[in-house]
Amino acid sequence: MNNIANPLLHESRAPRFDAIRPEHVEPGIKELLSQLGNNFEQLESDGKPTWRELIDPLERIDDELGYRWGIVSHLTSVSSNDALREVYERVEPDLVRFSMRIAQSRPVYDLMCALRDGSEWRRLDASQQRIVTLLIRDAKLAGVGLDGHERERFGKIQTELAELSTRFSNNVLDATKAFGMTLRDRSEVDGLPTSALQLAAQAARLSGEPTATTESGPWHITLDHPSFGPFMQHSRRRELRERLYRAYIARASSGEFDNTPLITQILKLRQEMARLLEYPNYADLSLATKMASGVQAVATLHEKLRVASFDRAHREFQELKEFSRTHAELQIATDTETMELQHWDVSFWAERLREDRYDFSEEELRPYFPLPRVLEGLFALAERLFEVKICSADGEVPVWHEDVRFFRITGEDEIPLAAFYLDPYSRPQEKRGGAWMDECTGRSRLFSDAITGQRLPVAYLVCNQSPPVDGQPSLMRFREVETLFHEFGHGLQHMLTSVDYGFAAGINGVEHDAIELPSQFMENWCYHRDTLLAMGCHYETNESLPTTFYDKICAARTFRAGEQMVRQLLFGLTDMMLHDGYDPDGDVTPFDIQRAVAETTSTLPLLADDRFLCSFSHIFAGGYAAGYYAYKWAEVLSADAFAMFEETGLEDPEAVATVGRRFRDTVLAMGGSQPAMDVFMAFRGREPDPAPLLRHSGLAD
Ligand code: ZN
Repeated sequence: MNNIANPLLHESRAPRFDAIRPEHVEPGIKELLSQLGNNFEQLESDGKPTWRELIDPLERIDDELGYRWGIVSHLTSVSSNDALREVYERVEPDLVRFSMRIAQSRPVYDLMCALRDGSEWRRLDASQQRIVTLLIRDAKLAGVGLDGHERERFGKIQTELAELSTRFSNNVLDATKAFGMTLRDRSEVDGLPTSALQLAAQAARLSGEPTATTESGPWHITLDHPSFGPFMQHSRRRELRERLYRAYIARASSGEFDNTPLITQILKLRQEMARLLEYPNYADLSLATKMASGVQAVATLHEKLRVASFDRAHREFQELKEFSRTHAELQIATDTETMELQHWDVSFWAERLREDRYDFSEEELRPYFPLPRVLEGLFALAERLFEVKICSADGEVPVWHEDVRFFRITGEDEIPLAAFYLDPYSRPQEKRGGAWMDECTGRSRLFSDAITGQRLPVAYLVCNQSPPVDGQPSLMRFREVETLFHEFGHGLQHMLTSVDYGFAAGINGVEHDAIELPSQFMENWCYHRDTLLAMGCHYETNESLPTTFYDKICAARTFRAGEQMVRQLLFGLTDMMLHDGYDPDGDVTPFDIQRAVAETTSTLPLLADDRFLCSFSHIFAGGYAAGYYAYKWAEVLSADAFAMFEETGLEDPEAVATVGRRFRDTVLAMGGSQPAMDVFMAFRGREPDPAPLLRHSGLAD
């Protein structure tokens, strides 16, 4: 193939989604890597310790790779097929090797240090200085500063940790797959809603019961969340819930898929890695790149939230107990002696209590949230808050599917600011699940544009919501509306950045525990009365969303908030304790640590054979080691940011616009050009306060 004609490498202003095919990927990426490899070698040998001769060329390499490979991984996520998946897997290792080579280059590291220590440093602005500082820090954390034996050992640890985490998650997958409960009698699926029965019959067909039907089974129940969750919530058969629950908490804790020894190995290696990099513990290493100032700051937050929610969680538990006693006929139990509420009862009774209190279903709400109307509401909100206009620009650029929309964002005086693709609907055959925002291009003055002076950011917003059926528009579940707002919030930070240096524009350089601030902030508006009532409108009758629904939505938001909070704290605290001074060689097991944490966070003591840690992939196979707390940390930030609007007056359009503009100029505009704490304080005028989160969750007394 002639690479000049390869549309993946095309110099057009937007990706050629109309022309890129799987066969373009391998030659395109190979050519790109060879070219960028040459550029990098040249930088290593001829680079000068100046911004222009070091950081600019680095950004060009980083950007070019990110943009082209971004197109490939985007297509693999939204428009996948066997050929694409196969070539993706074949090419990915080359990418990983190339990125490692860049991250661990000693010559470039030395040049960056020389730039920091040289005469140009004083002339760089604050964001340039921060970029260099972060690049040096990341290179150090990649082991670039180590020599000889230590460097070798560090490399070994990294490889071993990568292998262990892959084995850990494979064990979880395999152990999950290895368990199944096939139910043949209608009475055994008593209580399950049709959607759960459909899924269970489908699972049965896949596991060798070709005649399984939704109506007459057999039904196959698994430990996968879409199967496990609804069964625990709805099955009236107590002993089956117990069986399923016990299998769930014992996943990957024995036999051929046992993760127990892996946990110890991982903790040991992380400890050793931290020491090599001169951090006392892995927790300190993890927090070195975060907004939280250190282990103590995380501990303080955890304790504040725990104190505020522990008693409440106990009261909620008593309430549940009481409800289960007075409604005992709702479940079928064989055993009459131990009717004490157990772990496998909690979801079931919580769901019954929820139904009893807030008698509305997701389905009833859907007709009030057709996608076009929701988009109108969302864009109007963005206009009110941030003085931006969002207009459809469908047809201006190629897209990967006919349902994909394209929009442009303009600011004051119609100045173009950004653009985004929106791919709203679920397409299980070719699109991965979940919702996300990703960068197509980022803002940068290096790739200037004749009209705007610098290249403008373009985002991919991807959701998996209910598709249009039978000529109706897509009718959204309330939680899908929240998801759209959430991803749009990430998108706003990417798109409304005013930073012109690619390394710190938009979400680049933003600390991991602050990254969910704009997204969760936007979710808050789904509970804002005027915003929601203006948006919710019946797609056939044009009737506004009845206010009774609004009240119920708000009440349901705080339902069992105490329990939800302490559950997250159990995970977060255990994670921190295992990475902060815990001795993997000592007599105390990780399970002992979890049990000890449960004493102050759990409403029910953990079962003696609870081995949840063996399937805690977030911290043993994901990016959340000594970082699980980040979920709560970011919630504090987003709730506190929203509280500023509440304090100035949500009903006063002028006040909302003033605070909104300030949010845009700080949180959304400054991206990673300053530490997240400084950005937050520039907006809020003080450090974050957990009180608004507690108030929004109904946990403030
Ligand atoms: Zn998010």
